[in-house]
Amino acid sequence: MSQTYPVQKNEYIDVIFEDLTHDGAGVAKVDGYPVFVPGGLPGEKANIKVIKATKGYGIGRLVELLERSHFRVEVSQEEAHKYGGCQLQHIGYEGQLMYKENQVRQVLARIGKLDDVKVHPVLGMEHPWQYRNKAQVPVGEKDGKLVAGFFKPRSHEIVDSNESLIQLPDVNEAIQTVKQICIELGIKPYNEETHKGDLRHIMARYGKQTGELMVVLITRTSDLPQKNKLVEAIVDRLPKVKSIVHNINSRRTNVIMGDKTKVLWGREVIYDYIGSVKFAISALSFYQVNPDQTKVLYDKALEYAGLNGGETVIDAYCGIGTISLFLAQKAKKVYGVEIVPEAIEDARRNAELNEIANAEFAVGKAEDVIPKWYSEGITADVLMVDPPRKGCDEALLKTIIEMKPKKVVYVSCNPATLARDLRILEDGGYKTLEVQPVDMFPQTTHCEAVAKIVIA
Ligand code: SAH
Repeated sequence: MSQTYPVQKNEYIDVIFEDLTHDGAGVAKVDGYPVFVPGGLPGEKANIKVIKATKGYGIGRLVELLERSHFRVEVSQEEAHKYGGCQLQHIGYEGQLMYKENQVRQVLARIGKLDDVKVHPVLGMEHPWQYRNKAQVPVGEKDGKLVAGFFKPRSHEIVDSNESLIQLPDVNEAIQTVKQICIELGIKPYNEETHKGDLRHIMARYGKQTGELMVVLITRTSDLPQKNKLVEAIVDRLPKVKSIVHNINSRRTNVIMGDKTKVLWGREVIYDYIGSVKFAISALSFYQVNPDQTKVLYDKALEYAGLNGGETVIDAYCGIGTISLFLAQKAKKVYGVEIVPEAIEDARRNAELNEIANAEFAVGKAEDVIPKWYSEGITADVLMVDPPRKGCDEALLKTIIEMKPKKVVYVSCNPATLARDLRILEDGGYKTLEVQPVDMFPQTTHCEAVAKIVIA
């Protein structure tokens, strides 16, 4: 049965873009019916081809730009392979910051019903390129050759790429070099479809302040062919390497890392500094990818916490204790909780490394450990949360509402779940005072924000 919508599949039409979606596509309205077109920018007029029409929306492909936005920057075809994951590559930086500020404001209003919360302009970077301290590139095979780079958007095809414009040069060099060594040694790339082959991903992480490099080879089985030659060549050609780790991921999954790691050479960790605090980081631990902006983000979180030295603080989702140790310098006591055991090992090591004695860490789910603490009489004056993209577990929010810390500081990498969780806290007696977006991920649609929340 054929349906009639305001646009028809395969039709060519002229549209004007009014907005951008959360994944950076242009939004045009045809008789009120939204059509999403990757590459379109607000204010632009374009000819598009409709490639899909459903009940609620259509999807189009940009055919010809008829009027351009002054925010548009050109990207040549030859350069395109350097822009893996850069969904906003066609928007000048000023436009990207405006887009992220609007996105936070819109989502807080739409999902959080928080229309009048103060949202500050995004804190951006002076040079919004070459910032990532980590890359994990998928490895595959094309025409009998090992390739590595990034997945083509919405596909499982790997674009072979040796450089990314948002990665630190040392990270690019590490990936390129390890890839070249693997090609020379005839290492077999993993095949997603047949679940055969060896090397699945190459990961590199770089401590920008210390110049220390970690290389992680992720394979399907515990067998790493040519192990000794591989290690020898990496050490020889990448003098900054301090740690080479083998991670085994034998599952059929999109998740990059498996649970098992073995140190092949050097240390289990690399070190880095954020401000004056030194951190040990192991392969499985989360560590912010934009070191310059991390300082900006943590300083804002610290400012919102407003500590004067007498407070007890709980840092939920604490990772390797980065925010906890920042806070510990200004608080009486900090409790950190985190689900990855290796990260808590790092956190404890980091407290010792910095001679911080008033921070204590526990392994577990925040939504299990914090209620347990609460039942044992441990409460907080300030509660910090920094959850993954899916936001806070409802059980945790419920405990916060019962525990009633005077202040909650919410660091979020997903404005939609931030808005959802702020609504729950507001309904539980809290008030959101202000939200500060920080651009941790220039050129991409990812958006980070810190919110300051107090008892109403
Ligand atoms: N605050 C840290 C880490 C933030 S990333 C930093 O800035 O570096 C979010 C962290 O939450 C990750 O380390 C992840 O392992 C952890 N995590 C995910 N789900 C969790 C849960 N249910 N309980 C506790 N920690 C969790």
